[in-house]
Amino acid sequence: MRVVLLGPPGAGKGTQSEWLKEQYGIAHVSTGDLLREAVAQQTPLGVQAKSYMDSGALVPDELVLGMVAERIAKNDCAGGFLLDGFPRNAAQAEALADMLSEASCPLDHVVALDVPREALIKRITGRISCPGCGRIFNIAFGNVSGGVCEDCGAELVQRADDNEETVGNRLDVYEKQTSALLDYYQAQGLLRRVDGTGAPEDVWARIKEAVSAS
Ligand code: AMP
Repeated sequence: MRVVLLGPPGAGKGTQSEWLKEQYGIAHVSTGDLLREAVAQQTPLGVQAKSYMDSGALVPDELVLGMVAERIAKNDCAGGFLLDGFPRNAAQAEALADMLSEASCPLDHVVALDVPREALIKRITGRISCPGCGRIFNIAFGNVSGGVCEDCGAELVQRADDNEETVGNRLDVYEKQTSALLDYYQAQGLLRRVDGTGAPEDVWARIKEAVSAS
């Protein structure tokens, strides 16, 4: 199965991606994670991407597209993949369509999580993640216990761009550039809109239903 998971920052894409990956045995490809890794390792890509990410702007397409093409060509994507955080604009969606048609592997679903802006801000500023295993916790859901990961014991950290100044910009970028993709995928009959409010487990149940019903 090949899936795109769309939704504004804070919609719960990271958490739901982990569950989709486990349930369907597909690779989780998060462009945000790949870029953060490049920044941490100070690769040439990471050095160029950092200032865009710090301000909440999109990293230029020419940097992101090569990174995605390389990632989805890897063996673990052969049995299906989930794209989280990509595509983010019309040019990326077109480039993805070209990559997939060349490889004769079309998308099966585009799942879009809908969450109102006020809830997103609350979730993003309360989000803390584990640098050890990648699990995401959230003060908004009351599942942060003593600042350490309950799975692996590592100290939880806040993402550099999860602060109030950058959040507004990231949400504006989503509304201006990424939300247009809803119409694009709707026209192709691939869009599955899912209510992303409420507990993560409830959202997960809705995603499974949307994916299995279509
Ligand atoms: P995310 O973890 O998906 O919220 O992404 C964090 C940041 O990485 C974004 O605010 C962008 O600066 C950058 N980023 C992630 N994915 C993309 C993409 N597909 N295109 C451009 N920039 C991206």
